[in-house]
Amino acid sequence: MSRRNGKVPAAQRAVIDDDGRTLLAASARAWEWVCDEVERRHGWRPCPSSPGATAYRTFAEQVSILEANYDHTPRAGLTVGNGGIRHFAGQTWFRKPTKATAAEPGTSNHGWAKAVDVADLGAKVTDTRYRQFADVATEMAWSNTEGLTVGELWHWVHDGATVPDGAALAPHTKRPAMTRTYRRTSEPFTLAEAGHWYQLPVGDADGETHKRPRAALSGVGRSDFDAELRLTLTGLPAGATVQVRYVQMPEGSDVSDVRYAVDELIGTHGDTFARTGCKGTLPKGKRLIVLVRTATAGVKVTRVQSRVDFWRP
Ligand SMILES: [Zn+2]
Repeated sequence: MSRRNGKVPAAQRAVIDDDGRTLLAASARAWEWVCDEVERRHGWRPCPSSPGATAYRTFAEQVSILEANYDHTPRAGLTVGNGGIRHFAGQTWFRKPTKATAAEPGTSNHGWAKAVDVADLGAKVTDTRYRQFADVATEMAWSNTEGLTVGELWHWVHDGATVPDGAALAPHTKRPAMTRTYRRTSEPFTLAEAGHWYQLPVGDADGETHKRPRAALSGVGRSDFDAELRLTLTGLPAGATVQVRYVQMPEGSDVSDVRYAVDELIGTHGDTFARTGCKGTLPKGKRLIVLVRTATAGVKVTRVQSRVDFWRP
């Protein structure tokens, strides 16, 4: 399988983050394994630094970085060995003060789609996150040796030929940009009027459960969302239905401005009403609310559990 640096076919690469950065398929699996393992052991999840082509880097991107970080003015202390001097396109390039090292275009391990610049590892090899990451990453044939020769703690290269248990590694799983959950067990409220839409309290802070109702949720710019809702009701007669609606409303308006019904779910009789997999798109500047109605007056809502995952489209 022949490859050219900076021109690795997309079919040989796999996405490793929500921004679409890629690595060689085997290295991508090894990266995902490291991320899962660091998260499992240490409770935080490594990611490529952002913005920029910090995993696979095309030839053109390698040239841009050289042009941004180097010029043709000789400076003291720069050598080829410390990454300060590069030869490219018939010229000699000198690293500018404070700029990061770049490989000669066509030679970078980023161009082979097997290097990642890892975000937030700290400033020295003794920093906690660096040590935690390094312990796990070296188990999966990632190395910082090349990075350290040019003072880059963040530059990690995978030995693409080495993927222990590669077949068992899961592909990248996209994660929501934000999750809002809400759980309310006290202060039941009554759906007093039959057929009237009542607004449910929904989630608050990212990943947390709050007792204080939040009337409406904002997304993350324009967001796709996935929602699940579980309601416990009393006073609902056998055979009655519950309707739930996820609705967009403009920022700063009240519920009377509701115009867009995203979805409508119809449940059946039971103490607990649950639906998952309600999907929609929330435009920027709109907020999401949840409405419920029943055909019977006087039904009480005794418990609300709501979870909404927002995704960057
Ligand atoms: Zn790098």
